[in-house]
Amino acid sequence: MREIDVAVVGGGVTGILAARKLMNTGFRVLVLDKSKSVGGRLATRRIGGGRADHGAQFFTVRTDSFQELVDEWRTNGWVSKWFGEKHPRYKAVNGMNQLVKNLANEVPLQLVSKVERIERNEEKYVVFSEKGEQVKSSAILFTPPAPQTLELLENSEVLLSEEASKTLKEITFDPALVGLLTMSGETAGLSLEGHKDSHLPDGIERIVDNQVKGISDEKIISIYATPAFSKAYDHQDDESVLELMLGKLGHLLPHEAIISRQLKRWRYAQAKHVHHHPFLQVSTNEAIYVAGDAFLQKNDPAGKTRVESAVLSGLSVAEELQRYLNEKAST
Ligand SMILES: Cc1cc2nc3c(=O)[nH]c(=O)nc-3n(C[C@H](O)[C@H](O)[C@H](O)COP(=O)(O)OP(=O)(O)OC[C@H]3O[C@@H](n4cnc5c(N)ncnc54)[C@H](O)[C@@H]3O)c2cc1C
Repeated sequence: MREIDVAVVGGGVTGILAARKLMNTGFRVLVLDKSKSVGGRLATRRIGGGRADHGAQFFTVRTDSFQELVDEWRTNGWVSKWFGEKHPRYKAVNGMNQLVKNLANEVPLQLVSKVERIERNEEKYVVFSEKGEQVKSSAILFTPPAPQTLELLENSEVLLSEEASKTLKEITFDPALVGLLTMSGETAGLSLEGHKDSHLPDGIERIVDNQVKGISDEKIISIYATPAFSKAYDHQDDESVLELMLGKLGHLLPHEAIISRQLKRWRYAQAKHVHHHPFLQVSTNEAIYVAGDAFLQKNDPAGKTRVESAVLSGLSVAEELQRYLNEKAST
């Protein structure tokens, strides 16, 4: 059985940044993700000869520590400014997913590996995947959205304190429905940058032309429904949801120009209720930590989940894990 210092569950930006930081200080890590690729909600889908971002479209920067990192990413050619002056929106080159792939470049990964439960093994833990893989580690970091992490912990033979359980239960997420259209011709009514998030019909939050954004050779449009619309119509089939969305947008996206269409459903998109500490330890007796975008810094300047809160949570929990592992090694 493979043995490491920290098993990181989830290869979104939180998990990958935490793993990178631990790896760079000499710890053995492994990131397990259920998907075929890292990135999580920094998601880009290939459609025909084009690409579409269908999770986060951009990120903003409100803290010096994140700005430092973003400047590094800009120097590497991984991200660039998209639009906006006060809090510029940054996009990733070749799609948001590519940023996490770049960050994960040297990080040991085990993909298509859905973690099912963990068990204690003397002083260590064993992580079990759905496919029967087992990994032994001294500590575990969970980074899926809190409701999924809670379910995993409840299926595991570890101590989850009442307080930690309560905190995880309080973190709730809104769903999101995102329509993806391949189109012919030009789109009218979007900004020069290919983005629109105002003066849209009720139920529609944002429209993005991925070709104008610069990440796709073909014209693929991402349409984001509001949380209220997403909640109200989540039970309907894909075609009915797309019809409802397009019924509202005929003036911007004429039916006759649509070549193909599909729907992406996010069960956990952005957190409605957050926790004001950058990570959580499941109990004082366990080396099991939980982090992610819903775990905000105490003085978070925006007060909401976003790429920046995920990054800062990942870096903070890695620091705590370094402290824990160093202390353990010295006793
Ligand atoms: C539709 C949408 C729009 C958004 N818009 C913006 C925006 O404009 N600006 C912004 O800053 N942010 C936006 N966000 C939020 C942003 O994408 C997230 O805050 C950030 O990507 C969260 O990263 P994370 O690593 O914490 O979580 P995730 O990216 O969710 O990563 C968790 C990972 O865990 C994996 N996983 C889950 N369960 C298991 C399991 N059992 N075993 C193994 N792996 C597992 C998942 O596959 C996933 O890769 C948006 C999100 C969505 C969905």
